Amino acid sequence: MKLVLIGAPAAGKGTQARKLIARYGLAYISTGDMLREEVAKKSELGLNVKSVMASGGLVSDEMIIAIVKERIKEDDCKNGFILDGFPRTVVQAKKLDELIGNIDKAIYINAPDEVMLERITARETCPKCGASYNKIAIPSKVAGICDVCGEKLEQRKDDTLEAGKARLKTFHDQSEPLVEYYNAQGYLFEVDGLKGADNIFNDIAGELGERA
Ligand code: ADP
Repeated sequence: MKLVLIGAPAAGKGTQARKLIARYGLAYISTGDMLREEVAKKSELGLNVKSVMASGGLVSDEMIIAIVKERIKEDDCKNGFILDGFPRTVVQAKKLDELIGNIDKAIYINAPDEVMLERITARETCPKCGASYNKIAIPSKVAGICDVCGEKLEQRKDDTLEAGKARLKTFHDQSEPLVEYYNAQGYLFEVDGLKGADNIFNDIAGELGERA
């Protein structure tokens, strides 16, 4: 099964992706995580994308397509995968169609900007395992420490108010057209992003059924 997750920043894509891989045994491909790893490693690619990521813009279609093209060839993708953060433009979606034929479902987690901005600025992320918390709504058990791996939590460079606003604008301008793109192809499934993580997951699992 090949799934695409669409949603504004902080809509809960990463949270649902983690639940979906556990349930369906899919590979998890987060282009944001992959790029952040490159930035942390200070690789040539990382140095190239660092400032555009911090300001809330998108890295070039060519660059991200090249990364995804290689990633989906890896062994763990044979039984299917979840793409989180890709495609983010219609150009990327068309390229994905060229690469894999067609997807099975595009899951759109719909949530309003005001709530997303609150979530973005309250978010804490584990730099080691990628787990994500919210200082107000879903705090870690021990303040500032990851429940999963004990690492010190951080605020992502792009989780500031200013970058958050820019990312929401980028989402509306460049990524929201994907909703219509996949709807027209009959692959879209929309869920209400304010329902709570377990309810959202139940909706998605209800739509996907037992498929593997
Ligand atoms: P968010 O939490 O806002 O959904 P991600 O963690 O998925 O963000 O990605 C962080 C940043 O990485 C984006 O704001 C963008 O700069 C870059 N990025 C990730 N995926 C893509 C993509 N498919 N195309 C272009 N840029 C991307």
